[in-house]
Amino acid sequence: MDLGIAGKWALVCGASKGLGLGCAQALVREGVNLVINARNPDALALAASDLIAAGASAAGARGQKDHIPTVLPVAADITTPAGREAAFNVPGGPGCSFDIVVTNAGGPPTGDFRDWGRAEWIAAVEANMLTPIELIKATVDGMAARGFGRIVNITSSAVKAPIDILGLSNGARSGLTGFVAGLARNPKLAGQGVTVNNLLPGKFDTDRLQTTLQGAATKTGKPLEAVRAAQVATIPAGRFGTAEEFGAICAFLCSMQAGYITGQNLLADGGAYPGAF
Ligand code: NAP
Repeated sequence: MDLGIAGKWALVCGASKGLGLGCAQALVREGVNLVINARNPDALALAASDLIAAGASAAGARGQKDHIPTVLPVAADITTPAGREAAFNVPGGPGCSFDIVVTNAGGPPTGDFRDWGRAEWIAAVEANMLTPIELIKATVDGMAARGFGRIVNITSSAVKAPIDILGLSNGARSGLTGFVAGLARNPKLAGQGVTVNNLLPGKFDTDRLQTTLQGAATKTGKPLEAVRAAQVATIPAGRFGTAEEFGAICAFLCSMQAGYITGQNLLADGGAYPGAF
């Protein structure tokens, strides 16, 4: 299916690996121009060259070699004002005039809430609530003026089913979820072709998952492999998800076809969440 977004510009944050990279890969295969962001410049440069190759090969397969997407890496901490400015000011990029924004950054550390002070909470709220809101604020009005926009916030299944050792994530991301629920239904956005959705990963096999598995192993004193097997056993699909699967869902939410989906919290968790709704 042609998603109808070739030639659009997307900002994909946290895109050097894991779920963000999965989203960038799926979008570049659709011919979307990318500004990709992460802090480590070497890993980001490697991701950018792979994405350029993937974009070129997808364009070749479609017989559209004249439309090879641009990929611009911006190595910066997206949770800082300077990092966001760098993404908006990258030479050759679209400024703030993105058609698609995928918000993402590393998740907060695992732990016991008794050990977290104000600094830990502020960092979590900055990364997982205020940064997406700042990115949305900088881009959505332009999207509405141009009559097309897609915001996809990578949040977590912990928003629907909180996980005890992820209290910082549960709290900060719930704030973003409440904000998005109101924003997405604003007719000045929804009525102008702009959708705002949250994509909620359950358990996907990335470095971040390794960190949370290690956190659970440390807390319980169980071997890492036992923790991993126990967690897989709780997933009806019988496995962790892949970044490629996640990226494909993100690309669909960014598609022309998904224009009537807004304000949703889409869970991708292999059936792990037990509720009917
Ligand atoms: P990951 O494999 O650790 O990748 C995180 C990506 O974000 C990397 O490219 C990282 O690169 C970048 N990043 C981290 N902090 C950043 C910052 N301040 N500014 C810019 N880039 C930053 O993580 P993931 O598994 O893809 O997870 C993505 C998000 O989904 C996280 O918020 C995570 O908590 C959430 N999540 C994941 C799962 C899962 O099962 N994987 C489940 C629920 C929720 P640098 O380190 O070089 O910056």
